[in-house]
Amino acid sequence: MKEPELKAILAKRVFDLGVEVVNRTMAVQLLKAGDRVAGAIGMNVRSGEIIVCKAKAVILSSGGTARFGLPNNGYLYGVYDFPGNTGDGYCLAYRAGAELSGFEYTLIYYIIKDINAPLLYITLTRGANLLNAFDEHREKDHPSIKSMLQEHHEGRGPMRIIMSHLPEEKIKEIEDILFTTERPVQERFFRGRHVDFRSGEIELWPTECFLCGGHGLTGVRVNEMAETTVPGLYAAGDTSLVARGHLSGAFVFGEIAAESASEFAAGIESAELETDQISEFIEFQQSRFNQHANPVAIEEFEYKVRRIINDYIVPPKNDYKLNHALRWMDRFRIELDEQVRVKDIHDLFKYYEIQNIIQCATMSALASKERKESRWGLWHYRTDYPQSNDRDWLKHIVLTQGEAPEDVVVSHREIQRLGDAKTP
Ligand SMILES: Cc1cc2nc3c(=O)[nH]c(=O)nc-3n(C[C@H](O)[C@H](O)[C@H](O)COP(=O)(O)OP(=O)(O)OC[C@H]3O[C@@H](n4cnc5c(N)ncnc54)[C@H](O)[C@@H]3O)c2cc1C
Repeated sequence: MKEPELKAILAKRVFDLGVEVVNRTMAVQLLKAGDRVAGAIGMNVRSGEIIVCKAKAVILSSGGTARFGLPNNGYLYGVYDFPGNTGDGYCLAYRAGAELSGFEYTLIYYIIKDINAPLLYITLTRGANLLNAFDEHREKDHPSIKSMLQEHHEGRGPMRIIMSHLPEEKIKEIEDILFTTERPVQERFFRGRHVDFRSGEIELWPTECFLCGGHGLTGVRVNEMAETTVPGLYAAGDTSLVARGHLSGAFVFGEIAAESASEFAAGIESAELETDQISEFIEFQQSRFNQHANPVAIEEFEYKVRRIINDYIVPPKNDYKLNHALRWMDRFRIELDEQVRVKDIHDLFKYYEIQNIIQCATMSALASKERKESRWGLWHYRTDYPQSNDRDWLKHIVLTQGEAPEDVVVSHREIQRLGDAKTP
């Protein structure tokens, strides 16, 4: 990507089209009318104001689960992907009855140590060198994340990026992207560590584990029209299972979703809104403040949940660890209500975020347990089933909600090639 003003360009386009924008508002629940989706309820994360959007069609595009595993810098928000993404789109879709898949694809990247920001493709494609801890060069074969992680875990890491041999204009070009589009804070980060690309080196390290459609395979199952299995519900970008689409995939599929949803909305009447869902939401939200005197701060609780994800869900996986993960998540679900303090709006929206992180962890552990083989390198590596097994497992593991959110129903679907059929 090379466009520092991308977000401003997108925002301008939205305003020019006359779209009503509701900022600082977290979508917390989808509204249903029978089988159909009939809108969404959001909450302003500063004022707590509740916003009810009645809609004939809804497109989910709230990214993946960036806050999943805990990064080794120990900071809750020091993650690779955008830290505001806590799997909300996955959970909204799941609770509305949609199918999810790919939760066993637990991603880990290999990028700048401590800041977990990317630079590989920007530097290596412009002539930077990549060395392991023994000064052996690795840049020639433009290494995959998988091979770098392997070297690291085999004790030949950390890998390092070196640019001191590059001409000044190349280094400036690299800085120009890294310090603008990519993540402006990188400039301050490197200055603070006295790393100048002209003389120093950049140490690489594995990131935290995360779930994502655009970088991986996790998401809401959609067909080529971006339709989910719930009428009126669409998904695009990192929320959807349009594997490894990245940014261009998000743009393309976002447009497809918009066209499909508009067409759907034009062809049907508005559904009658069942207002009970709204009163139940308000009642639940207000009852959270009964937790104002509970002993555990919400940030400490999130730290623990994500530390346990690191212990038991992050690969290498096995049945013992995944069973432990499931037991812990059941316990966390109860503790979130009985132990965690919710004293203001700030705590309240974090309550919803952590509820979603726990739900994603449950789904990830269950899907990982179900797939009794190893696949995708380290990302679904099971020490008790170390080989891949196409005969039994070349298929999707699909998750849907049972009686309650914690009752995840696991089923299998055959692989479908694009264009085979419209149903997901
Ligand atoms: C560090 C990094 C580098 C990358 N580099 C490249 C690259 O070079 N090339 C490329 O093609 N791709 C790249 N990608 C991938 C690309 O950025 C993503 O695939 C793309 O941004 C996905 O777009 P999206 O709109 O689906 O999700 P996002 O861009 O993550 O947007 C999700 C939005 O949803 C909001 N949100 C979350 N929860 C809620 C909620 N409950 N209610 C309301 N809003 C919510 C968030 O605030 C956020 O604004 C990179 C990603 C990362 C993290």
